[in-house]
Amino acid sequence: MPDMWIAGAAAAGSGDRITVTDPATADALDDVPAATADDVDHAVTAATDAFATWQRTDATRRAAHLRTFAELLEEHRGELVASLVAEQGKPTLEANGEFDHFLAGLRYYAEAATKVRGSYQDLPSQFGRSYGLVVRRPLGVVGAIIPWNFPLTLLANKLGPAVAAGNTVVAKPAETTPLTTLRVAELSAEAELPPGVFNVVTGGPDTGAALVAHPGVRRIAFTGQTATGRKIMEVAGPALKHVSLELGGSDPTIVLPDAAVGNAVKNIVIGRYWNCGQACLAPKRAFVHADVYDTFVEDLVGRVGRYEPGPGTSKPEKPKLPIGPLHTREQRDLLAAQLADAVDRGAKVLVGGESLDGPGHFFRPAVVVDVPADSRLATEEVFGPVLPVWKVDSLDEAITRANDTVYGLGSSIWTTDASAIDRAMRDLQAGVTWVNQLHYGYDEMPFGGTKLSGFGREHGLEALDEYVETKSVVVGGLGG
Ligand code: NAD
Repeated sequence: MPDMWIAGAAAAGSGDRITVTDPATADALDDVPAATADDVDHAVTAATDAFATWQRTDATRRAAHLRTFAELLEEHRGELVASLVAEQGKPTLEANGEFDHFLAGLRYYAEAATKVRGSYQDLPSQFGRSYGLVVRRPLGVVGAIIPWNFPLTLLANKLGPAVAAGNTVVAKPAETTPLTTLRVAELSAEAELPPGVFNVVTGGPDTGAALVAHPGVRRIAFTGQTATGRKIMEVAGPALKHVSLELGGSDPTIVLPDAAVGNAVKNIVIGRYWNCGQACLAPKRAFVHADVYDTFVEDLVGRVGRYEPGPGTSKPEKPKLPIGPLHTREQRDLLAAQLADAVDRGAKVLVGGESLDGPGHFFRPAVVVDVPADSRLATEEVFGPVLPVWKVDSLDEAITRANDTVYGLGSSIWTTDASAIDRAMRDLQAGVTWVNQLHYGYDEMPFGGTKLSGFGREHGLEALDEYVETKSVVVGGLGG
């Protein structure tokens, strides 16, 4: 029965409890509090109290705290990875990958903590010599709201820059994946992160909404669905809070005739089917030039057919590849409905596409062709292991169709033609364009969306900027 983590101690919560289940078996794993508005207030108060000291703590000390925290977490890798597998459903290999990314994120911002800089400006001297300083101040309490697909990396993306820059955090993990986050918070005390710097409240949408509405929260860092992002803006907008929204995506990937097709397929498969297709930045729509379409599809179908759905702890014999369950039954039903809609309108499923019997939410990964442009597979975000592939005759057609979406998170192109790369770089409407590269969120590079994929950036030094305010200081009266 894990409790929440507030002011450096376990906190029981005053409301109901939520059962957390294993997506591979539907068995109950544990239960956590559904935090009420009072519980959220308790956490925000703790974070506000801690901010008074944390913002004055030397950047080198803040950096040291983050580094020590990451080292301690590393020592607990086995336990934390197993917990992530159990509550999220992903294969152990992928959970280890997420854990590495999580630690890399914390370590990146440990280094960055000492790199926040301001500037000096000479000023006109009507009233005696004067000059200006542009200083960067932390904001205060940050509410970090996190989805279930990457509970740890999406926590690091917010906790790392927030704490490095001198803010304090109240994190709210998804209601289906709170357990690993709670254990991480508990370990933060062992790593001597001062009480109140990192707090965790558990619960669902109501808890998230209470965090957004709390007047003591200066910034909301949100990752999740576009529809939820809109609700957050309705509350945070009038309160003039700082907000970043990392929302849904329907990333296009374009394959041109000169591409190394085998390499493109290999990386598109990893991108699309990793985490059972539940990644915001997965390539979700493939546009392949007619000259290489048949080769691409044949290779793709062969690779996707190798996936063997099973619990995250299982390890299929080579050449089979592991893939976990969908995270929830609702998620699988939605995916099945999106696929059925395309099939009803004439699409062909070349491999996979079946929901498997049993208590777990398993689904056989699919490749689909001849998908009508107005079907749900093309117009909605598809958060599961299904890839529609369209044949195109030119780069112009590919870019037009790639941009024909409300989303604008990532995008990619497979070619070595410099002018095609230049076109893609300029014309693809997305926060990221990968060229001959896997869709991946590098710690060093700002990541985020345009259009209905949201605004604000995570990762990189750019993200650090989102956790500070610029303050101008004008200095005079010093003679000279
Ligand atoms: P979701 O929006 O349902 O939930 C995300 C979080 O918001 C959860 O913690 C949830 O409890 C909370 N929440 C729900 N309603 C709320 C409200 N009214 N106020 C405040 N908090 C609220 O998203 P999900 O289904 O858990 O996650 C999947 C989505 O996340 C997909 O759309 C995916 O593309 C997106 N995502 C985006 C990125 C990115 O960086 N752009 C990364 C990962 C996932």
